[in-house]
Amino acid sequence: MSLLQERDQKYVAHTYGRFPLDLVRAEGSLVYDADGKRYIDMGSGIGVTAFGNGDPVWVAAVSAQLGKLQHMSNLYYTEPCVRLAELLCEKTGMKRVFFGNSGAEANECAIKVARKYAAEKKGPEHFTIVTLENSFHGRTLTTLSATGQDHYHELFQPLTPGFAHIDAGDMDALAALCETGTIAAVLVECVQGEGGVIPLDPEFASALDRFVREQDILLMVDEVQTGNGRSGQMYAYMHYGLHPDVVSTAKGLAGGLPMGAALLSEKVQHVLSYGDHGSTFGGNPVAAAAALSVVNRLTDDFLQEVRSKADLLRSLLEACPGIKSVSGLGLMLGLETVKPAGEVVAACMERGVLCLTAKNKVRLLPALNIPEDLLRKAAAVICEVCG
Ligand code: PLP
Repeated sequence: MSLLQERDQKYVAHTYGRFPLDLVRAEGSLVYDADGKRYIDMGSGIGVTAFGNGDPVWVAAVSAQLGKLQHMSNLYYTEPCVRLAELLCEKTGMKRVFFGNSGAEANECAIKVARKYAAEKKGPEHFTIVTLENSFHGRTLTTLSATGQDHYHELFQPLTPGFAHIDAGDMDALAALCETGTIAAVLVECVQGEGGVIPLDPEFASALDRFVREQDILLMVDEVQTGNGRSGQMYAYMHYGLHPDVVSTAKGLAGGLPMGAALLSEKVQHVLSYGDHGSTFGGNPVAAAAALSVVNRLTDDFLQEVRSKADLLRSLLEACPGIKSVSGLGLMLGLETVKPAGEVVAACMERGVLCLTAKNKVRLLPALNIPEDLLRKAAAVICEVCG
């Protein structure tokens, strides 16, 4: 164990299973450890560094903003926050944006919007949010309650009440829950990331979209991991033709600085009013400038490039004998491997490629602008390691 790892063990709360790797610097999709060894980054900080590390456009945008105004709170107006909200609305047709600092906070906002909307429109007994089994929505107590995986719940009882979980695809279960007259909203990931990179069945997604509109239940899409170009569209719900009332997002939004956002549709744009919600850091000018530098570059042409790279990566991996299946959307892929995923990831690291896991799968979330040669090299290593 390195000295850094010993100090980490001693002073940092033991909540993470870290890889035994001390990283010191990075350039784009290449990362270097303390011994100068080079790695191809196929995880991008779990889908955060959308344009890699040290991207010159991002660094220039953040540096320029740092030199102007770093933080003044939400008591005042600042250009980057307003421009970012405007841009996100232009790109999605949503009407307003609430900014926080993380995916969990974006979902907390979505849940508050759903509760208030349903209470005012239908009565306070309509407070339940339906989510899917195997989902992941965050680590705060409320988003943990939203998360449809029992093992996250066990040690933290009592959880926030008012959540119900159905199996993905089970429209009958949703209809039965609605009969109880307590449902406010449904919250889904288009591709369950932490759950094993499992895309929503398109037929279920369409049925869900129709059903929630008939019932005046809100449809909320968790785009924390799938959002901001990751899927090859601005947001993954666009692949499915969904009409969400709330879109929560974070991770890649600001490309490496903490930022989360809840995008609100016309129907719910006025639900939150003065004093209902807030965040000290939400919409911070530096984070917003970072996000502007990311979102401004998610043009149709760029998204087409993401889709082409995704097709290339998928086809390279699908041809590997040691890979049983490839799931996911865009540059968010899950590999079902013959060897255990943990073993594959460790061997890839040894050979200079950093990958992630999700449940029993190897998970890949490279930077959206990863050069094609690095993508090919990484795929070759993964393929060889998989056997
Ligand atoms: N929602 C989804 C779909 C996620 O993948 C995550 C994190 O992995 C979260 C919410 C929580 O985001 P954060 O860790 O930024 O709070």
